Amino acid sequence: MKTINDINFAGKKALIRVDFNVPLDKDFNITDDKRITAALPTLKKILNDGGAVILMSHLGRPKAGPTNAFSLSHIVAHLSDLLGITVQFADDCIGQQAIQKAATLKAGEVLLLENLRFYPEEEKGDVAFAEKLAQLGNVYVNDAFGTAHRAHASTAIIAQFFAGAKFSGYLMASEINNAEKVLNHPERPFTAIMGGAKVSDKILLIEKLLEKVDNLIIGGGMAYTFAKAQGGNIGNSLLETDKQALALQLVEKAKAKGVNLILPTDTVIADDFNNNANTNTVLTKNIPDGWMGLDIGAQTIANFNAVLANSKTILWNGPMGVFEMANFEHGTKAVAQAVVDATKTGAFSLIGGGDSAAAVAKFGMENEVSYVSTGGGALLEYMEGKELPGVKALND
Ligand code: AMP
Repeated sequence: MKTINDINFAGKKALIRVDFNVPLDKDFNITDDKRITAALPTLKKILNDGGAVILMSHLGRPKAGPTNAFSLSHIVAHLSDLLGITVQFADDCIGQQAIQKAATLKAGEVLLLENLRFYPEEEKGDVAFAEKLAQLGNVYVNDAFGTAHRAHASTAIIAQFFAGAKFSGYLMASEINNAEKVLNHPERPFTAIMGGAKVSDKILLIEKLLEKVDNLIIGGGMAYTFAKAQGGNIGNSLLETDKQALALQLVEKAKAKGVNLILPTDTVIADDFNNNANTNTVLTKNIPDGWMGLDIGAQTIANFNAVLANSKTILWNGPMGVFEMANFEHGTKAVAQAVVDATKTGAFSLIGGGDSAAAVAKFGMENEVSYVSTGGGALLEYMEGKELPGVKALND
């Protein structure tokens, strides 16, 4: 895959797919600009080379065409501040105005196009729509790792119109390099921490990881399906009834591969799915009826931490409990701290996007781990071994 380091952008018009799908409050203020700041190195390289920048992105999931709530116009002021120049805006991503503004754009200038998803053709991967977008620039750059697992018009289909002139941006390249480093060149011991609500979302990744890791830590809601399958009582905890046999197979597979599989031994339980519920700590296999496990217990934290302290590569995907509620964030926070401590003593730590990234951000530890991925689904699919359409399109 060629990166933007392979080209000098002087005199070029770079059409860049970014992921500026940032959260906005009710007054359209950006509440977290990480996705924008993550793309800045790419934009700066192109502008410093003497190129012009045309940005395309989606924002949210608009269902009924152009809607102010999903307009990228809300981010123009902040993007201008971050870049230190006035960013121009086209209130349609295709059509006369976009063509006109792109045509007159000068070196060092930036044009942001309106939300791609105001056209259903974007998500359908429509070729004619992609061709219209392609006319706006003469080099294509994809820096939107978070949407690289989608074969949308702007993330994949468009690349066919830029033979020999398509490149990955710095964010895309570093996401892939970090995922590759963990999957294919891990310093050992290599520990994966898997959590979150469901086993079913992560089966493929767990199976893949059993081929690669030395230790596999499983926490969060998905751990109760394992506990139940092993004959425990889990009360009202999360259970995927039809995944119990699979859980037992994964336990067997870990044994056969010599992987140290570590499951929770104790659990913080609650009598309601509520931060103010009554709580207690019990053995994970003995959760009383009417109670549910919402976090890992102190003994489990100690077990997990002992493994993490000896790890040289750590991959973390999914929280250890309902970290959104203060009374059940403790396990996730303790594991995050253990990952930070291991990083300080030389381990490489990759935090999968989505909820694990949100948790690390909530605890203010984003800058104390080696890398926080911007991709949730995209990272999962990449690590499962699937070819991402957005990456493939750059390589074809
Ligand atoms: P996922 O998207 O699969 O990574 O799941 C993340 C979600 O799992 C978060 O919103 C957590 O609140 C939730 N979660 C983690 N542990 C539990 C649990 N023990 N019971 C219910 N939900 C949980």
